[in-house]
Amino acid sequence: MSRALTTRFAPSPTGRLHLGNARTALFAFLLARAAGGRFVLRVEDTDSERSSEAFLEAQLADLRWLGLDWDAGPGREDAAGPYRQSQRGAIYAEHYDRLEREGHAYPCYCSQETLAVARRTQLARGEPPRYPGTCRELGALGRAAHEAAGRRPVLRFRVPPGQSLEFDDLVRGPQRFATDDIGDFVLRRADGVPVFFFCNALDDALMGVTHVLRGEDHLANTPRQRLLLEALGLEAPAYGHLPLLVGADGAPLSKRRGAASLGELRERGYLPGAIANYLLRLGHAGAPDGWVEPAALAGHFALDRVGRAPAHFDESQLLHWQREAVKHLDEAACADWLGPALPPDPGAGARATLVRLLRHNVLFPLEAAPWAAVLFGDLPAPSGDAEAQLHEAGPGFFAAARAALELAGPDLPALAREIRARTGRRGADLYRPLRAALTGRCDGPELGPLLAALPLDTIRSRLEAAEVATGRA
Ligand code: GLU
Ligand code: ZN
Repeated sequence: MSRALTTRFAPSPTGRLHLGNARTALFAFLLARAAGGRFVLRVEDTDSERSSEAFLEAQLADLRWLGLDWDAGPGREDAAGPYRQSQRGAIYAEHYDRLEREGHAYPCYCSQETLAVARRTQLARGEPPRYPGTCRELGALGRAAHEAAGRRPVLRFRVPPGQSLEFDDLVRGPQRFATDDIGDFVLRRADGVPVFFFCNALDDALMGVTHVLRGEDHLANTPRQRLLLEALGLEAPAYGHLPLLVGADGAPLSKRRGAASLGELRERGYLPGAIANYLLRLGHAGAPDGWVEPAALAGHFALDRVGRAPAHFDESQLLHWQREAVKHLDEAACADWLGPALPPDPGAGARATLVRLLRHNVLFPLEAAPWAAVLFGDLPAPSGDAEAQLHEAGPGFFAAARAALELAGPDLPALAREIRARTGRRGADLYRPLRAALTGRCDGPELGPLLAALPLDTIRSRLEAAEVATGRA
């Protein structure tokens, strides 16, 4: 039976997801979607001290926000579940028993001190430190003696000697490891808690995962995980190790260093499509130059275009995709996005007007808030360039503009024609002071729609205020 290509994302809920995690998750998701396969979400929460329910909820919300819907996982249980490792104790126990029964694992009673001495001796001899095998052949009697002394064993995997392990990494190509370089490793801690290697590999196999994409920091785990699955007679997935995502300083982005978390980016108003478009180009070549709709991303992803060099986080590129994402929002989505940053609707569809005016002028909702005052509130006193524009034009210009307004109304071409006839000003010399008087700023939405959106009385009083302010000086 051929299995559907199945990928997974396996976060530990010990913090918020950062961009590096998001890229791993997105690539795994796109790999599955591109092949018409399955995407599984598994929660690696065996470390009860560092894991929390709040982090888990936040991670699930961040993944959903990014559009990474899972086919199986929390909230979508199926026969291969449960999908939280903290609920899979019985499955782990059964496989520990089997490994021990079949001679692939054995209890080890060595104390930390004993192991530390062995490590020092090996290092002194110039050998790589590894478990010396002390408890490998401990018989029933030896065990009984340790148990009688109240010692609790770890469970160790018996690494077969003298083998060469070869496999193809999906990203890094052929890999080769010698089992003689791998010491017998721990599968279960003395307090009974299963270790990462074990649950991670076993669950991938039991959940039908065919392709694992994960951070390069896990490459060294792969030979041990393959040995383990071989001992259990389970099929190992193909592994692909993604180069780390590094900051401008070249150091890896990690949640511990407080790198931008997805949650933070979202709170700042980044749009999920911007993040996804950015990540699609981060260490992955060949994506089109232009915007890709989130639903079409998978069609532009190919594993053989994932690079091996570290990928550099560059916020200016993220901003570029944010600009594109804003451009591609429809009006309703734009209103949802900007809405929370705007004051309550003052009525008469003013908010909708504001959204329409601003959508090509702001990258983040916070930038929209001052415009609410410009349109529906009191204008803050102009300063800087805007103030200079007012004074350059002088009171005569604004007196003429007021007269022109009474004649022509707020239609910009007609109004501009009248002002030009009265002042001889045209182009920027005409529009800049007008904008400064009406908005107190030199930038912003197009003047025509802005004039159309402002109440006539507001236009009048702002022109008058500009005349008074510049006449006074
Ligand atoms: N829980 C592990 C991590 O977050 C998963 C590693 C893997 O993807 O295999 O690093
Ligand atoms: Zn031992």
